[in-house]
Amino acid sequence: MKNRTAYLVEPGKFEIKETEMPACKEDDVLVKVKHMGICGSDVMFYQDPTVGGALDTRLPIILGHECAGIVVETGKNVTRFHPGDAVALEPGVPCGTCAYCLSGKYNLCPDVNFMAAPPWKTGAMQIYLAHPAAFTFPLPKQMDTIEGALIEPLAVGMHAAARAQAEPGKSVLILGAGCIGLMTLLACKNRGVSDITVVDLFENRLKKARELGAAHVINGKEKDTMEEVRRMTEKRGMDIVFETAGSAATARQIPYLVKAGGKAVMVGNVHGKTPMDLFEMNGKEADLLSVFRYRNIFPTAIASVASGNIPLKTMVSDFFSFEQAEEAFAYALKEKQTAWKVMITF
Ligand SMILES: [Zn+2]
Ligand SMILES: [Zn+2]
Repeated sequence: MKNRTAYLVEPGKFEIKETEMPACKEDDVLVKVKHMGICGSDVMFYQDPTVGGALDTRLPIILGHECAGIVVETGKNVTRFHPGDAVALEPGVPCGTCAYCLSGKYNLCPDVNFMAAPPWKTGAMQIYLAHPAAFTFPLPKQMDTIEGALIEPLAVGMHAAARAQAEPGKSVLILGAGCIGLMTLLACKNRGVSDITVVDLFENRLKKARELGAAHVINGKEKDTMEEVRRMTEKRGMDIVFETAGSAATARQIPYLVKAGGKAVMVGNVHGKTPMDLFEMNGKEADLLSVFRYRNIFPTAIASVASGNIPLKTMVSDFFSFEQAEEAFAYALKEKQTAWKVMITF
């Protein structure tokens, strides 16, 4: 049996090559990948693997980290899985022995091997993947591998919502209605929050946010977000503000949007330095939190989707085949504003 792997050989160019089958070690499962979602980070590396010289990336690399598939083989220590099981893969495998790992905050492990991220050990754009069983999660019967592949971005939203302690009765403001903004919306809804306002510059994204259960939307191109929030909350601000747009312009607004005693969570990656009115934050005794990926959340995410609480599949906008990898990425880049999630079918 041979594997096939899609390598990014130069910016914007993939080559699919026949490769050796990965070794299924004693604690691993060998998975035949069925679906993979293209993440914003994948598109960023596809365009510019070194991210403007910030990373020492040597090509070729393998992209993709949002994936699910079918178990075809199990290592000799693995009893939880059997060939034929549908599974979602958690793409970050930490060392398991450092202080962060032992405390449960394994997302902060300095030696984590995360698919399609430095140090570029592996990626999902292959037919077969060997993966530790401990970071492999079974999908119940009512879920398919399309939903399985979407568990990873949902986990980002769920971790952010958990950090913010989003709960019924709280007012939530989400800045940005891209994939992660919408996943944060779904995660807050799943925690029973109903008072959710979403801000974006594009009408089609706001329409999607409404469909997914946002109570209010603000088009930041037409209205002044800060003024609108002041008006909506009788000048008090929101209990919880999520920045998911990854933009300095929205991040700077946080101190004026959050309520006294509230929480703001940085979910989007804002590159460079962002001047922020910290005096305003102090006066409000508001918490500024950040999130890095997620931890210990795949089982909860899968159970929430299985229960029917999260219409995850509606996040997929387009499908491409594995052979169309290059086309799929070019499309995801070009249609950034409308393609919530481009999915590759293997
Ligand atoms: Zn992702
Ligand atoms: Zn560790």
